[in-house]
Amino acid sequence: MVVNLISDTATQPTPGMLEAMFSAAVGDDVFRQDPTVNELEATAADLFGMEAALFCPSGTMTNQLAIKCHTRALDEVICEEKSHVYQYEGGVYSLLSSVSMNLIHGERGKILPGQVSAAVKPEYDWLPRSRLLVIENTCNKGGGSIYTIAEATEIVREARSHQLAVHLDGARLFNALVETGEDPRQWGQLFDTVSLCLSKGLGAPVGSLLMGDTAMIAEARRYRKVFGGGMRQAGYLAAAGLYALRHHIDRLAEDNARARRLAAALTQLPFVARVAETQTNICLFDLKDRSAAEFLEALRAEGVLATPFGPRTVRFTTHLGVSEEQIDFVIDRLQRLSRSTAPPARG
Ligand SMILES: *Cc1c(COP(=O)(O)O)cnc(C)c1O
Repeated sequence: MVVNLISDTATQPTPGMLEAMFSAAVGDDVFRQDPTVNELEATAADLFGMEAALFCPSGTMTNQLAIKCHTRALDEVICEEKSHVYQYEGGVYSLLSSVSMNLIHGERGKILPGQVSAAVKPEYDWLPRSRLLVIENTCNKGGGSIYTIAEATEIVREARSHQLAVHLDGARLFNALVETGEDPRQWGQLFDTVSLCLSKGLGAPVGSLLMGDTAMIAEARRYRKVFGGGMRQAGYLAAAGLYALRHHIDRLAEDNARARRLAAALTQLPFVARVAETQTNICLFDLKDRSAAEFLEALRAEGVLATPFGPRTVRFTTHLGVSEEQIDFVIDRLQRLSRSTAPPARG
């Protein structure tokens, strides 16, 4: 058995999802004539109570379209320093939108009350113009941390009091919402634009959605085309996304519970120094006496794949391809590793 905890992008389409893809009605989406893409976009907009949605190849594209549409050259984007838009999108905001980043040092990737006001720059010719706030829920590099709607509301209120636009990188938003019980419409109401990944825990092979008002999404559609993201018979992919929204949201609670099982088991192991609080499907932990590279090599030999997240930090990510039995297997292998590497017993 090989258990893949590297990322929730490792999912394979389920038989039901493949069936939906095979039987999709398609057309040329650049001419807006793909009925399945149109249905996905209408469904997503309705789910978030927003006017419109745009189907894109990736979450990098939906985030960068939001930055493009909310800013002008020489503006700055305010975000937490662990944010995906800063860490993992190649710095492309500088290329596509000619903006800079103003980074906040928050907690587990989350911005705290007061920090946005403190970060906003006054209007001087020699300063970048603070224009957009991006927050991430759940925060990947923060270990899958959750913002509650109450926390987000306070931060967004602060941002709006400084005339900032607000974008939500909700790549894994539903991993949070299945825990808090909040309605996606509450989140749609709060933000100007929302990005959601279909290709993470929701299990679609490709795709992300950008939600916003009609004018903003029309503008994003123009930029999607010129950035090279206009797809033709994309309905085959949209069908997977529709299937995911209809069948794979509630089950994210299982992924979260499985990550917490892993976290609980890790705290019992002698070679684990610290396990971060595990709220959703991402579990980060630090090793005591070995590097992440060494540990992952030994773990790989036992049939478990995971990701280094620092010199002594490892990330486990659960997803719909990881069953309860596979979690049992991983825990068993971790316990074996601790026996095989424990110092010899004395006496
Ligand atoms: C995965 C992810 C994205 C988008 O990544 P793509 O690989 O471009 O689809 C954006 N934000 C967060 C927080 C993510 O985890």
